Amino acid sequence: MSQQQQKQHNVHWLTGQFCDDSKEFEYRSSVATRVRFESRLALILVALVFAMFGITDYNLLGLTREYYLLLTMRVAVISLCLLLAFIIGRHGGYSRNTWLHALPLWILATGIILIIPLRPESLATQITAVVVAIMAFYLLIPNLLTVAALASFYLTGGFFVIALLYVGISPAGALRLALLLIMANVVGYCALLRLEFLQRKQFALLHDERDQNREMMKEIAHRKSLEAQLRMVAERDALTGVDSRSHFMKRAAALLQRAQIEKTPFCLFMIDVDHFKQVNDTWGHTRGDFILTKIAEVCEQSLRPSDVIGRFGGEEFVVALPDTSPSDAQAVAERIKNNVEALPLTDELSDLNLSVTIGIAIAQAEDDDLDALITRADSMLYAGKRDGRNRVVIGAE
Ligand code: GH3
Ligand code: MG
Ligand code: MG
Repeated sequence: MSQQQQKQHNVHWLTGQFCDDSKEFEYRSSVATRVRFESRLALILVALVFAMFGITDYNLLGLTREYYLLLTMRVAVISLCLLLAFIIGRHGGYSRNTWLHALPLWILATGIILIIPLRPESLATQITAVVVAIMAFYLLIPNLLTVAALASFYLTGGFFVIALLYVGISPAGALRLALLLIMANVVGYCALLRLEFLQRKQFALLHDERDQNREMMKEIAHRKSLEAQLRMVAERDALTGVDSRSHFMKRAAALLQRAQIEKTPFCLFMIDVDHFKQVNDTWGHTRGDFILTKIAEVCEQSLRPSDVIGRFGGEEFVVALPDTSPSDAQAVAERIKNNVEALPLTDELSDLNLSVTIGIAIAQAEDDDLDALITRADSMLYAGKRDGRNRVVIGAE
């Protein structure tokens, strides 16, 4: 991991958030959907619990003025909680609207604090409720440590002050209450700090792994494309685009073997451009190259897709024709010869009399191998050259 990445992954020891703002934003965005769902659920549960305690109010106070005040306060808090649950469900972007997630905690804290002046005699129960609320702020209602801590400090301070003001507690009792509230905050704070830290470390590790995987996939794709390029270079003739000699030999050998197993006819052409040296001498090598590509094109167009053509070397091409009878092979060769003769060339090459001579070998013996076929096609080719070129010669043996 680079130093830059290491720095990005640092989590602040006090806030439990990434020191790097963009990383923190990324983290919060990644958990936003879950936080939104959990926040709504927590708010609905809180509203339910707050409503349930209304029953104890009635038992304790009867239908008194305090009861109605408490009821009003409870209805207000419950309504606000449900309203916020609704708003958070719609607009609660955790990465940006942190204040929206902070609001329920402050409303809840205010509601809890306000119970004291209305029900001062229930202080003992309220202390338990406040400790539970502090724990809930830190651990159960999903929020940032800083947000939870601020709301919890507000609840703690507010509750303590109101308790002192409305309930006559002794100095020793006040000290015990303060210690209890501080302890609840320390435990809640440390637990959430640890949780925030671990969640962010896990997030950073997952990200590293994802980045490494992405790099690896890129590398694999790059290697695959290199492999494809290499294969292309090895399998294709750079000038004409037909099979390279070595690739042709591989494919043709496989076709020949299959023909021998399936006992189907197999023929092979050797095609040589006539007087090509002269073409080069007259028109130059560049045009010679161009003519070679045109001839390769014409040959390919005159063949079936199942036939295989390769550049044997120089101005010689070799063709394997599986499943082709000698008479069909001869017809194909004649077609190639005629098409080359009729090859449309540019005006400056209009004087050029282009022709090819083709030697055909027919696979016969079961142990015929490709080299033997090539040698036979070659000798047919040279027979054709001797006899005046621009012709097709088929091997009888
Ligand atoms: P023949 O009718 O007897 O086949 O005569 P030829 O001139 O074609 O035969 P030869 O084998 O003497 O000459 C082949 C020529 O093909 C020689 C060489 O300059 C040319 N040649 C071979 N490869 C290339 C190539 O890639 N590009 C070009 N432009 N010419 C090539
Ligand atoms: Mg030649
Ligand atoms: Mg030639």
